Amino acid sequence: MSSHPRIGFIGAGNMASALAGGLLARGWPAASLWLADPSAAQLAAHSGRGLRTTTDNAELAAAVDVLVLSVKPQVMADVLKPIAGIARARRPLIISIAAGIPVASLQRWLGAALPVVRAMPNTPALVQAGAAGLFASAEVGEDQRRLAEQVLGAVGLSLWVEREDLIDAVTAVSGSGPAYFFYVMESMIAAGVALGLDERDARALTLQTALGAAQMAITADVGPAELRRRVTSPAGTTEQAVRVFDESGLGDIFQRALAACADRGAEMA
Ligand code: NAD
Repeated sequence: MSSHPRIGFIGAGNMASALAGGLLARGWPAASLWLADPSAAQLAAHSGRGLRTTTDNAELAAAVDVLVLSVKPQVMADVLKPIAGIARARRPLIISIAAGIPVASLQRWLGAALPVVRAMPNTPALVQAGAAGLFASAEVGEDQRRLAEQVLGAVGLSLWVEREDLIDAVTAVSGSGPAYFFYVMESMIAAGVALGLDERDARALTLQTALGAAQMAITADVGPAELRRRVTSPAGTTEQAVRVFDESGLGDIFQRALAACADRGAEMA
């Protein structure tokens, strides 16, 4: 008998597949991973890998120690109400990755103050390079915190925030963050083409530069501001580009953009 807690995902879409795949890659036994989804097609690939699959959410809820809610936010209430009785009887750790649904709503639909971790992952989880913020309700114990870290940590970085409203800040920085970097990439590719490079070369140089800069920033013993200073020689070429960014108020644009994103997250909750 495996000592690994049984983890069940309700909703076997992109995110659940990434998390289950990450756990498998880290040695979690396939037989301790469950997935429920009304779509047999979504489940087929997983059952082929030895994971337990079912189209019945209640069957999964009755079998697992950790219940990961990985359905779209708009179906969450309908998903939880029919399994609330089973969840109250078994008291699994609940991990919700649904954007914009507060702990209080989840506990209300479940009909009890069950231990809930609210997580905000991001799409790079699909390539095992995710970043997630986690918030734990007061009912979550230390062992359950470690378990939630293992689940989200299977696809990248995870860290705790100690107030639920900070999940909106996590959404603004990392949840929506990949789109900002894609936007910067689009803009750099277009600028490279405008300067005469062909599109393929502009793209290859831009993407490799993004990867290289991220790797340097992650491994360096100084922060991004110092790294930037080190590549910006006085009166050199980089300084000219940075001058245009500064004159255009790029820092302020990011402040306003992330504040708008966080505000929208708070409104949705
Ligand atoms: P997805 O559409 O790929 O997966 C959702 C799955 O839920 C589908 O397979 C669908 O068949 C299934 N489903 C629908 N109704 C169901 C029901 N009644 N019972 C069980 N399963 C049901 O979506 P996703 O991209 O994996 O996102 C899942 C959750 O993760 C969402 O709540 C989203 O807000 C959250 N999230 C996603 C991202 C992201 O970048 N994709 C980032 C942060 C949070």
